[in-house]
Amino acid sequence: MKVLIVEDDAVSRKMIEMIMKPLVKEYSLAKDGKVALDFFNKSVESENNYDLVLLDIMLPKMDGQTLLLKFREKEKEFNLMGNKGCKIIMVSALDDAGNIMEAFKNQCDGYLAKPYNKNSLMIELKKLELIE
Ligand SMILES: [Mg+2]
Repeated sequence: MKVLIVEDDAVSRKMIEMIMKPLVKEYSLAKDGKVALDFFNKSVESENNYDLVLLDIMLPKMDGQTLLLKFREKEKEFNLMGNKGCKIIMVSALDDAGNIMEAFKNQCDGYLAKPYNKNSLMIELKKLELIE
């Protein structure tokens, strides 16, 4: 599994990295929205797509909701729709209905409210059949 972790907070990034490291073959870390978009676009263009993106919403340079839209646009451009697209789980301190609804409308696959723990992340990954 190839994963893109988008998180600006160092402590959260370390935690998510520690949880994901044993599960994945390869992962990239992005600390702001622009870097995340760059990583994502390059992966699609080089046909080396991510299987999973863990996407924070409050980020410098570009927020996670905008990124979600741009990621799905990029996939569409390369005919990677539906099951061919990567799984995107929003991971955010924002847990209001507005943000959650907007994210699902823009085709995220899961939404995890912070603070969360390893177990709740594992449940999401199982639901998406990314782990056994
Ligand atoms: Mg943040």
